[in-house]
Amino acid sequence: MNGENKNQAGKDQPQPSRRGWRSWWMLYLLMLGILLIPSFFSGTDAREISWQQFEENILPKNAVEKIVIVNNETAEVYIKKEFAKDPRFKDVFTKSVGNAVNQGPHYAITIGSAEAFERKLEEAQKNIPLSQKIDVTYIKRKNWSWDIFSWLLPLIVLFVIWNFVLRRSTSIGGGANSNIFNFGKSGATLVEKEKSNVTFDDVAGLEEAKTEIKEIVDFLKNPDTYTRLGAKIPKGVILVGPPGTGKTLLAKAIAGEAQVPFFSISGSEFVEMFVGVGASRVRDLFDRAKEKAPCIIFIDEIDAIGRSRGKGAFLSGANDERESTLNQLLTEMDGFSTNSGVIVLAATNRADMLDAALLRPGRFDRHIYLELPNQSEREAIFKVHLRPIKTEQDIDVRFLVAQTPGFSGADIANICNEAALMAARKKKSKVERQDFLDAIDRVVAGLEKKSKIISPEEKKIIAYHEAGHAVTSWLLTSVDPLAKVSIIPRGKSLGAAWYLPEEKQLRSKKAFAEHLCATLGGRAAEEIIFGDVSSGALDDLEKATKEAYTMVAYYGFDELIGNTSFYDSTGQHDTSIQKPYSEATGRIIDEQVRKLISSAYNDTKSLLEKNKNGLIQIAGLLLQKEVIYKEDIEKVLGKRTEAKTGEWASSAKIIPAAFLGNE
Ligand code: ATP
Repeated sequence: MNGENKNQAGKDQPQPSRRGWRSWWMLYLLMLGILLIPSFFSGTDAREISWQQFEENILPKNAVEKIVIVNNETAEVYIKKEFAKDPRFKDVFTKSVGNAVNQGPHYAITIGSAEAFERKLEEAQKNIPLSQKIDVTYIKRKNWSWDIFSWLLPLIVLFVIWNFVLRRSTSIGGGANSNIFNFGKSGATLVEKEKSNVTFDDVAGLEEAKTEIKEIVDFLKNPDTYTRLGAKIPKGVILVGPPGTGKTLLAKAIAGEAQVPFFSISGSEFVEMFVGVGASRVRDLFDRAKEKAPCIIFIDEIDAIGRSRGKGAFLSGANDERESTLNQLLTEMDGFSTNSGVIVLAATNRADMLDAALLRPGRFDRHIYLELPNQSEREAIFKVHLRPIKTEQDIDVRFLVAQTPGFSGADIANICNEAALMAARKKKSKVERQDFLDAIDRVVAGLEKKSKIISPEEKKIIAYHEAGHAVTSWLLTSVDPLAKVSIIPRGKSLGAAWYLPEEKQLRSKKAFAEHLCATLGGRAAEEIIFGDVSSGALDDLEKATKEAYTMVAYYGFDELIGNTSFYDSTGQHDTSIQKPYSEATGRIIDEQVRKLISSAYNDTKSLLEKNKNGLIQIAGLLLQKEVIYKEDIEKVLGKRTEAKTGEWASSAKIIPAAFLGNE
């Protein structure tokens, strides 16, 4: 690494920018000093006296040579030179600094007005002959430095405010350009190898991604191995995956493992309210990177600048600045030659939003897809995050893994931390299994709100609603296995049925239909028992409607719509107002969705009518215990018939079917 590199703190350039600021403040102070110092020294050595003192002690001595009225404000009194040795005036003839002879003025009287002063002087000298009367002259004295200062002060104030506003606007949103003179500079952080303590060992699972990434690091370290055979080093690698799957972590690990400089910047740091700044920052980033080649540039959340040009302009307002930033990025990625040793690594969870030009080979040649971790990957992630936690001996990681299908790495990290916090709150010496279970519940559904006031009638409705979900999902074999049912309020929900989805990749039409029934089970139970329905099914209805639309419009499960899908994997319809189907088709879709939901609702009702006894018993258990588990339900409804493999799958996280209260 470059010995004269000043980035000991792990950041490139922060010192110069701070120093820059300091020197600007010094300049302000110097300017003020230059302006104020002359006025400081221009003061006279005249002694301030009042009119009475002058009239009583000085005037009768006939010692006054002349009086000069300055700016109609001050009367400066000069004493005749022959009185210099006179003990009464001796001290005013000596200057305060350096003991030099004070040539005058020797006294100063602050006057109200020149006329009044002259009148009083005239009065005091009325018996003196005209030839001996004191000579009075008037002068205007200008304080140049003060005049200049009063001109400059507003300008300086404006300049300081302008600076301040620009500084704020650049630092908001993580912009590292805290100096306006660095405005067009990129705020990328330069991470030196020894500064990043994340290694590939901290990244659990993601084996394929790690292999690809390791290869790229190897390209940079030993380019000859590849170029010798005519291979070209890739220019860009893009990591795509849902939030929390470890994209940033992987990038940090590269910074820790690669023996090359690593520039890290977030896409949003390019975006500024001033046109042209983003493009200039991209240019600057690549210039800096080229100086340090071989090196890696990591752009996190690249969708902030890489979004398709023209897309969404109608809805979000045309964004010329973002487009020019993207154009600059495209140009820069074309600009450096393939073997120049700068590799751009980017991360996003919205690859569908990215501009096609950015993703083409020659720019981001490699796309690495990270997915939500599977069972064994979750186990590995748990092991990484359990490392620093003091747990009881027999913590069964596999059990925790089974409770967390569909969880991302970030969720798992959060659960481990929450569990430790919960155990600490209870003053435990070790984190126990129950703490992990509580942490999972908390992460999934929010904090328990036992103190929420719920009337007994409402509690009964909630219990029957949840019992409705429990019974339908227990009896319909394609629905996710039920884990527990609770009527303790949590987060926004008043009660919830918790499922444990199995990890399968396909989901049948039957599974969809049964899931729809289980979702509507709560409302159906309310209607059967109370003859009325409540607003608590909002969450269920929202999910059911969305699911029914996907069944009809995306998966081709509807007979009338047929094997047609209006799904758009490019994400373009997200932002367009126009639907991909005609109005007539839209009407059919709406009609079929309504039919689907209403037939599922009727099926659910008849299923629950047939099992009304079970429903009442489970609701009773819930009212009694508040939380019931699989085993309790088994005692009432008998053993559950398991679904045949492949019938039901979900990559969705366990989201409890929540009964929502009015917020
Ligand atoms: P986003 O797209 O929202 O930025 P991301 O994919 O960049 O998310 P990270 O910031 O890398 O997610 O991950 C967040 C946290 O989750 C990490 O700091 C780490 O603690 C944990 N984590 C995620 N994946 C893994 C993994 N494979 N191994 C260990 N920890 C992980």
